[in-house]
Amino acid sequence: MRKLNFDQAGLTRREFLVSSAVSAVPQRGISLRDSPAMPADAPWYTRIRRVGQINFNERDPLTMDVESWMDYWASLKADAVLLNGGGIVAFYPTELPYHHRSQFLGTRDLFGEAVAAAVKRSIRVVARMDCNFAYEEAFKAHPEWFERDRDGSPRKHAEAPWLYATCMFSPYFTEQMPAIFREINHRYAVSGFFTNGWPSTGPLGVCHCEICRTIFREKLGGEPPEETDATSAHYRQYYEIYMGRIAEVWKLWDLIAKEKQPDAVYVGNLGGGIHTVKSLRRFADFASWFNADHQGRAGDTPIWDCAQQGRVARAVMKGKTVTNVTGAYSNSRPVWRHVSKSAAETTLWLAQTTASGMVPWYHWLGGTPEDNRWRETGRLFYRWIASNEPHFRNRQPLADLAVVYPQSTISFYRSSGPRAWRGGDRTQSADYLQGLYYALLEGRFLFDFVHQEDLPTAALSKYRALLAPNAAYLRDSECEAIRRYVAAGGSLWATFETSRYNEWGDAREDLALGDVFGASLTGDTIGPAGNSYMRIEAPHPVTRHFEGTSLLPGSENRVSLRRLHPSRPELSVVPAYPAYPPEMVYPRTSRTEEPAAILSEKGGSRVAYFPGDVDRTFWRSGNTDLGLLIRDSIAWVMGEGGRTVEVEGDGVVEIFLWQTESGFALHLLNYTNPNMTRGLIRRHYPIGPLSVILDFPGAQSISDVQALRNPMRLPIRREGGRVHFVVPKVGDCEVVALT
Ligand SMILES: [Zn+2]
Repeated sequence: MRKLNFDQAGLTRREFLVSSAVSAVPQRGISLRDSPAMPADAPWYTRIRRVGQINFNERDPLTMDVESWMDYWASLKADAVLLNGGGIVAFYPTELPYHHRSQFLGTRDLFGEAVAAAVKRSIRVVARMDCNFAYEEAFKAHPEWFERDRDGSPRKHAEAPWLYATCMFSPYFTEQMPAIFREINHRYAVSGFFTNGWPSTGPLGVCHCEICRTIFREKLGGEPPEETDATSAHYRQYYEIYMGRIAEVWKLWDLIAKEKQPDAVYVGNLGGGIHTVKSLRRFADFASWFNADHQGRAGDTPIWDCAQQGRVARAVMKGKTVTNVTGAYSNSRPVWRHVSKSAAETTLWLAQTTASGMVPWYHWLGGTPEDNRWRETGRLFYRWIASNEPHFRNRQPLADLAVVYPQSTISFYRSSGPRAWRGGDRTQSADYLQGLYYALLEGRFLFDFVHQEDLPTAALSKYRALLAPNAAYLRDSECEAIRRYVAAGGSLWATFETSRYNEWGDAREDLALGDVFGASLTGDTIGPAGNSYMRIEAPHPVTRHFEGTSLLPGSENRVSLRRLHPSRPELSVVPAYPAYPPEMVYPRTSRTEEPAAILSEKGGSRVAYFPGDVDRTFWRSGNTDLGLLIRDSIAWVMGEGGRTVEVEGDGVVEIFLWQTESGFALHLLNYTNPNMTRGLIRRHYPIGPLSVILDFPGAQSISDVQALRNPMRLPIRREGGRVHFVVPKVGDCEVVALT
């Protein structure tokens, strides 16, 4: 049986396709880099698969039974636990000034006891710290450690106003926290440190303390802007200074963590899902462990929010350790810290964590719970992973498509000008990606995220197409990477203002990728306006499912442009007309030459460009035609030939395929649920049978197919290089081990 490996042979996928045509090998497949097994001396945290956290409260020293807690984590086969060391509250008899001992500590050393109980059970301990607040005693002795408002008043915690917010530019971060880390490291058998709440991936804070004012005066020549206005030169400098300080502190704390044990580690608090402002790409330069604090969802956040977090983190960490915290408590809005979340929601969150390549980190608050329902939920899931562990040891994901993670757009889009978004509206900047994501789920495509800053160096040739959901803010180098990819025969799908601005939002005279799209701007962006349409002008594979209509719903916004190569568009714009009152509802201009899509083909390369925000309009409206149009246009740019994985059968399913240490693993996440886009999930609605076809170079070597969740061996049928099998039923999720 022949196992193909392009990269071993030094071939790109495209070269492989050319050479395989000659050698009569099936003309499809994706790159399987022969990634070596993890070296035996790899740091301990690269091998962990299950993490637990019990978050102590100040009163816990009175009542907490550490032995029974560690029995619980041992029963989950946890590799590591997070235990509160100090920061706001020291849970050990600290000798350091201004490090507040728990008022209930008495003669106990709660942290020390818990560390010993964990280590006795061969569980690693990461000291969970909080660097963000301190008591008044510290404020009085070191007023320079603390954040100030513009009027100079200190900032206090909203719910615990006796705590003062510390400033990350102050010596609290470079002197006091290091002293605490060193005291803990010296006394206890800890393998690392984690800081709650810092640095986060969200918006930058602004502090007016003396130290910050000096920094800003000297480096910015003024005060930092309060608002995220990325078009301001001032804000851009501030962003650099801020990210620079995070890097400086992170590296310092990591060095301190390693003072006793070289493979110890500092891990910061990241996360944010697809909504990020601080540069994730930059974090990956100095972080050896990405912990996503993405514990659950609220409101109308879709259930796949956790899998998206995994894709984002994986894109920048590229195989380095990524963990994700799952709140076992009810972290909805409003929040309940001391009752369990529904078991069904928690389990699907954990399943997304592992499916997207992250390591689960299960979290409860308070040492003497009155609600213990969450315990069995975590235990069942963790023990299931443990009993199938080789199939959860991933080497690399397999994917047909690359989705650009457009972080600059998500961070800064429309941060100034008359169309600016303020406050909560800013979350809309991810709606383009969200709409594309939903369509990818409906189409069951296999895809990776590629961070925009990685475009110039990413091995894009292994993907059959690159998708850019309104990547409006792109660097010249990133546009050039996309241009090169298409020129080399790659295919592209893009929407709306992709490449119109640089990474900070400075408008270009024309779309930087206009030559690739075959379009040139003629005016300003039009919209938002409902009741506009797309007219089907000529038959095309992209519109093949729309028999019975010549009109499709139009996008809410669009750029005005002309085609560089005039020809009749396959889809044209019908401009908006009144939707009310009914007497007025008729098109004023029923036919235009303005393209609603530009579909071009050159050699093996296909480009589909939508001047409208079809992705965002799809997400906001849920319109089924738009979803179908996005799916069919992606299928068209992918070109002929089978997909790596095809899954047939009813249901909304997200799929991941990993090359693992023991073969391959196909993850199927069942989102088919009335609570898919408004939580929380009450129960699972089983789907199946699902018919699966695998078609990639490694598939020929598969001889055994086992379902792990609903355990059974699945009979396989071969056809050429393809492998068929049927998964009879999927409850919450299924993992199919392919060896
Ligand atoms: Zn400050």
